[in-house]
Amino acid sequence: LKAVVKTKPGDGFVELIQIPEPEAGKGDLLVHVERAGICGSDLNIFHGTFEGYKVPVVMGHEFAGTVENAHPSSGFTKGERVACETHAYVCNDCEYCRSGKYNLCPSRRGFGYGVDGAFAKYVKVRSALAHRLPDGISMDEGAMLEPLSVALNALTNSIIRAGDSMLIIGPGPIGLMCSQIARLSGANAMVMGSEGSTFRLKVAESLGATTITDRQLRDELGKSRTGRFDLTVLATGRASSFETALLATKPGGQVVQIGESVEMASFQFSLIERKNLTIHGSFSHTWPVWEKAISLVNDRRIDLLSLATHRIPIEAWREGFDLTERRNGLKVLIRP
Ligand SMILES: [Zn+2]
Ligand SMILES: [Zn+2]
Repeated sequence: LKAVVKTKPGDGFVELIQIPEPEAGKGDLLVHVERAGICGSDLNIFHGTFEGYKVPVVMGHEFAGTVENAHPSSGFTKGERVACETHAYVCNDCEYCRSGKYNLCPSRRGFGYGVDGAFAKYVKVRSALAHRLPDGISMDEGAMLEPLSVALNALTNSIIRAGDSMLIIGPGPIGLMCSQIARLSGANAMVMGSEGSTFRLKVAESLGATTITDRQLRDELGKSRTGRFDLTVLATGRASSFETALLATKPGGQVVQIGESVEMASFQFSLIERKNLTIHGSFSHTWPVWEKAISLVNDRRIDLLSLATHRIPIEAWREGFDLTERRNGLKVLIRP
């Protein structure tokens, strides 16, 4: 079967090639991938700037599909619609695995960089990772539950009070999921993007957020460095945004960091201390967060479909990567 494979380390070396069909062993499911989303981290893997990827590896970690083959012990049957967590391997033995925080397992390997992923017709998954999709959730939405769970995990780990003002730096899919969750929590969401991200900021507004450009925010922070946001979310891989977040947040406020990159950040050290800020990181997600994400989408309280701007066949994967890199649209979904 055809798969998008990172074949060698370095910049590029991604090809659509034939691979053998994966075999599902005990406790595994073979999932027929119906939709797989392209993520910013796939571009980092493409460019060789992602930490810890192995080669060759089938890329792709945001996906939904139907069970093609299920080991009898798995509890699943052929034809069930599922979306899956990304933790392809965890040790099940460490302090984190034993306390339900398996997303933090030091031995964790994820789909699409550590274990063969979903940019292929079939992917093999541990049945523990699969969540059943209610009939009301489409495959397009199913493939976006992973980034939604990333956003939800980040915000359920922070304190949001009704009426809080929240700044979201980065108008990508995860940023616009965060802005929707903020509104559900009773906060006022403002999304910041560059001058060039007009389309993304328009979608943010259509989903109920207010918007600001990076230049407008810089001008504002040039006048007053006190900040006016109770909580700032960094949904961007641009490390230079970290200082902006520290400046824009009110004294006593929170900064949540979910962007991923290998960039180094440089910022005024004492800002965190002087402003008495709380800084949280949030990595990935766990089972209960996924189940909440599923019910939010099923109840039509989060709009994912407005974020799916492109649907392409797997043969056009390169175009999809380019579209994602240019940041003109939002989520690009591959049909393997
Ligand atoms: Zn992702
Ligand atoms: Zn572990």
